[in-house]
Amino acid sequence: MALHTTDLLILGSGPAGYTAGIYAARAGISVMIVSGNQEGGQLTMTSSVENFPGFGEISGYELMDKMKQQAINLGVSFVNDYIVEVDFSNRPFVCSSENGHSYKAKAVIVATGASARWLGLPSEKEFLGYGVSACATCDGFFYRGRTVAVIGGGNSAVCEALYLSTLADKVVLVHRRDSLRADKILQDRVLSNKKIVVEWNSVVEEILGQNEPKKVTGLKIRNVETDVVKNIDLDGVFVAVGHKPNTDIFKGNLILDDKGYIVTHENSSITDIEGVFAAGDVKDPKYKQAVISAGSGAMAAMDAVEFLDAE
Ligand code: FAD
Ligand code: NAP
Repeated sequence: MALHTTDLLILGSGPAGYTAGIYAARAGISVMIVSGNQEGGQLTMTSSVENFPGFGEISGYELMDKMKQQAINLGVSFVNDYIVEVDFSNRPFVCSSENGHSYKAKAVIVATGASARWLGLPSEKEFLGYGVSACATCDGFFYRGRTVAVIGGGNSAVCEALYLSTLADKVVLVHRRDSLRADKILQDRVLSNKKIVVEWNSVVEEILGQNEPKKVTGLKIRNVETDVVKNIDLDGVFVAVGHKPNTDIFKGNLILDDKGYIVTHENSSITDIEGVFAAGDVKDPKYKQAVISAGSGAMAAMDAVEFLDAE
């Protein structure tokens, strides 16, 4: 059990956290980033990022590794740990981790991002890790030459379907409406991909599977227009129905909106607690893009440095 002390503590190692670290370190204060359970954040789940300016096309892992190295080279301390409790009632603030370590800081930037949402079906839980996944880059490899489904109609679902089409023989995209939410350029790619079939206006009733060996064998879907139910034989199901902010530990500490996002003052990263700032997807119910999270991290660092300078 160790006690770490720093001027600025950053919770999260996604684009927001690393960018905040880069900006704050260059302002000459001591900065520590706590990685959380997903070092590099959500982008590490994608094989290809092609809308982060300056990089053309780059893998999410590589982009995040570059950000990490840049932060470390500028003097940011980095720890692999996960915060389970925060005490923002007094300054210095104290954050406690699952490993029993304490982090004391004069200012905190919360950049804990968002996590995948699930459909909430019991069968989804039962077969999680046995054919049910929320990360094609992580698990797609197991479905080479097989049939898989992707659930959802946003950018994540479409990207997952496109990536899986490079491995699987057939990808069934199941979407609850008759049009996709994803960016036009991605929609065009999906709709012209011969390996991808879209089941429009369809919701998942059940994920079908077997025991011994435990695995997914199919999907029961219902067309919401016709009410027709049908079973599709397949080997894997990738759920991509959106994300929810990682704010459970801040309930009762920071003001959250009705969807759980941290509320900040307009056009800033300032929360209702002086010295605590928020950046990235954790405070962004709308845009949720890497470049915007990075910009938001820069804003939070500038707000935090201004606060520490005034102290
Ligand atoms: P995140 O990336 O979510 O990072 C949050 C960090 O907080 C993680 O490091 C996590 O470990 C840490 N954390 C969480 N809880 C705790 C805790 N209790 N204690 C300490 N740390 C904690 N955007 C694009 O612009 N282009 C794309 O091509 C693109 N592709 C995507 C593909 C996929 C599959 C997904 C899911 C998203 C994609 N996005 C893309 C969106 C983009 O990834 C996010 O907008 C961006 O990562 C948000 O950055 P962030 O730093 O706010 O949070
Ligand atoms: P999203 O944009 O919120 O899309 C979620 C999708 O899931 C929607 O199509 C939604 O349907 C569907 N859905 C939600 N709940 C459902 C349920 N219970 N059952 C069935 N379907 C359900 O979320 P996302 O795709 O995860 O993207 C999150 C953010 O990351 C977005 O801002 C996105 O732009 C960004 N991102 C960007 C890229 C990129 O730029 N290449 C890649 C991935 C993600 P409706 O359409 O009917 O609401």
